[in-house]
Amino acid sequence: MAEIRTRIAPSPTGFAHVGTLRSALFNFLFARKNHGKFVLRVEDTDQNRLVEGALEDVVKVLHDFKLDPDEGFVWDNGVKEQGPYAPYLQSKRLPIYKKYAEELIEKNHAYYCFCTPQRLEDLRKSQEAQKLPPKYDKLCLSLSKEEVQQKLANNEPHVIRLNVPADQTIRFTDLIHGEISISTNDIDDQVLLKSDGFPTYHLAVVVDDYLMNINYVLRGDEWLPSTPKHILLYSAFGWPSPQYAHLPLLLSKSKKKLSKREGDVAVKDFLAQGYLPEALLNFVALLGWNPKTEQEIFTLDELIEQFSLDKVNKSGAVFDLEKLDWINGLYIRKLSLEELFARISEYLSEAKTAPREFVLKILGLEQGRLKKLSEIGDRVRYFFHEPEYDPALLVWKKGSAETAKQNLIMLSSVLSNFDKSEFIKDNLELKIKNLITEKDLTNGEVLWPLRVALSGLEASPSPFEIMDAFSALPGGKEIILKRLQNAINSLA
Ligand code: GLU
Repeated sequence: MAEIRTRIAPSPTGFAHVGTLRSALFNFLFARKNHGKFVLRVEDTDQNRLVEGALEDVVKVLHDFKLDPDEGFVWDNGVKEQGPYAPYLQSKRLPIYKKYAEELIEKNHAYYCFCTPQRLEDLRKSQEAQKLPPKYDKLCLSLSKEEVQQKLANNEPHVIRLNVPADQTIRFTDLIHGEISISTNDIDDQVLLKSDGFPTYHLAVVVDDYLMNINYVLRGDEWLPSTPKHILLYSAFGWPSPQYAHLPLLLSKSKKKLSKREGDVAVKDFLAQGYLPEALLNFVALLGWNPKTEQEIFTLDELIEQFSLDKVNKSGAVFDLEKLDWINGLYIRKLSLEELFARISEYLSEAKTAPREFVLKILGLEQGRLKKLSEIGDRVRYFFHEPEYDPALLVWKKGSAETAKQNLIMLSSVLSNFDKSEFIKDNLELKIKNLITEKDLTNGEVLWPLRVALSGLEASPSPFEIMDAFSALPGGKEIILKRLQNAINSLA
């Protein structure tokens, strides 16, 4: 059997979005699972919509997600091109498309069209008025060879159009959607080569997939309506068409099509928010692919092993941010503290200057609670800056300001007698809880004001944990006592 070759062929018209990542992942998995090759080709035929940095972005994203292609554009300290079918950038392949477009003219499967934009516009309007679908009326197909030659010799602006035959049925089997058939009467005489010499997507994608030996095309459902045109082109060339698998649309929670214009679907935005690449990838794997087991957390190797196209759904895949948060939280908890430390510094500027031990302790407290790395700054600000809060927060719900104050004074005097080495969570907990029992107090009326005095927050780790973390700081004991004093003063 021929080697399986898949590809993604993004257009550099924006930054890689989650749909691109999903296509890349599925193509990568299918290629790896079948010991085939995965190619990254870039389709920059729409030169008006190019976005600076977009090519680099998609190559880097694949690298960051460990989906490096075998051929085409790869990341190696920058964008590199490699592989036997270079160039993999369509704008560098213009003579190839021209040659193949002309070959189709020879075979009567395509023709030159010299119609002006004005004529096409008038045609469209009159069809609209008659409630007909917009279609080119093949006017230029009736030009004689001599007329065509004359117009070409006069440099009249022209395009090359596909000559779609009437009354035929195009049939193909999509590996996800099954049998699909469509009448050629519903297909327009598509432009293949534009007047500026650039191919349209339809011509370029078919020529390149063929020349690059791509035999499996896995792409988003939005390309399904284009596929009959591609099949028509393959048969016009006399080439075998690849197998197609159209992946379900990505839907927002309100079941609308997720669009890159909605902003936050760019992969780099997700990474910037502190989603871990491995968590995002795990989440994206489940967008349309159903392992048919209870398993929800997968390594890349497990995905390669378990992936198959018959477990890809037909219906749209809902992009559920809550699920992404949940998966990301799980992945954050799986990191060692050292790994978390390494990844957190861009979200926590203090981590770069504060003593490492201190930061590690703080991370240890937050690791189980974080859903994304970007939350860390707000959650742990009180460790680095004296908290500001309403003194009323110091009062336990069943207590009074007076008891809160007395208890803080008591704690302050006990803690000031502790040796630095005693500020260890278990020890603090034991001693303070003994004190509470001895004095016949309740946990709430003592520990609540203590915790608030330290953190200024309604919810935070326990006061023992907070003090334990501060003890990793030179002067940590003094910080603790100072915060108790601030609280006492605020209750005056
Ligand atoms: N250039 C198209 C895109 O931007 C490729 C579609 C396909 O995979 O055929 O996604």
